[in-house]
Amino acid sequence: MTIAPTDYHAIRARIEAASAAAGRPPARLLAVSKTKPAAAVRALAAQGQEAFGENYVQEALAKQRELADLALEWHLIGPLQSNKCREVAQHFDWLQSLDRAKLVTPLARQRPAGRAPLNVLIQVNIDDEASKSGCAPAAVEELATLVAAEPALRLRGLMAIPQPLPDLARRRIAFERMAELFEALRVRHAGIDTLSMGMSDDFELAIAAGATMVRIGTALFGARQAL
Ligand SMILES: *Cc1c(COP(=O)(O)O)cnc(C)c1O
Repeated sequence: MTIAPTDYHAIRARIEAASAAAGRPPARLLAVSKTKPAAAVRALAAQGQEAFGENYVQEALAKQRELADLALEWHLIGPLQSNKCREVAQHFDWLQSLDRAKLVTPLARQRPAGRAPLNVLIQVNIDDEASKSGCAPAAVEELATLVAAEPALRLRGLMAIPQPLPDLARRRIAFERMAELFEALRVRHAGIDTLSMGMSDDFELAIAAGATMVRIGTALFGARQAL
């Protein structure tokens, strides 16, 4: 599979333009490579992309093995089951989907001593959807306190996947509520710097509302096949 160089640079240019319009430094781009082969990751890495997001632990580990010659930054963005904490602590740089307290200690204990702390985002179920993972907005503070107390973990901020409503004004409200939660959290955790929200079809809206990292799959790699 090939990635047209213009796709990558056009997306980067749109991120930079939206960030400049919002008066902020360029949002970071996380390339979401779930269901895509290692060769597609390698092709994008050759253009300068370093951070890649995966939803499934086993699929990510297989790609990491194939791409071990590259210095890439791996993010888990899919729901985390407790029996996968060890693999995540050992093999990822970021966990974007922490949503419950009982995962905190296993992740911290199993982070290898020689590695930098695992960067952690708390996933918030901002639209209160029964089908989605993520903690309730009211649970963020307590979870953040637990993460911040673990030297093997580094609290970086929040992540959300708002409901993909066709009405963009309503999506914008969810992004703005996330930005408020993020600013409120920053009062007590001055070191946090990452608000991860916005995907292929709404990343500019998310950046306007305050996203500092956008997660883009389809617009970079093309449509996904069903698994
Ligand atoms: C798949 C996925 C994305 C990327 O979605 P696209 O619409 O393909 O850009 C971003 N974030 C999460 C959590 C995902 O699961």
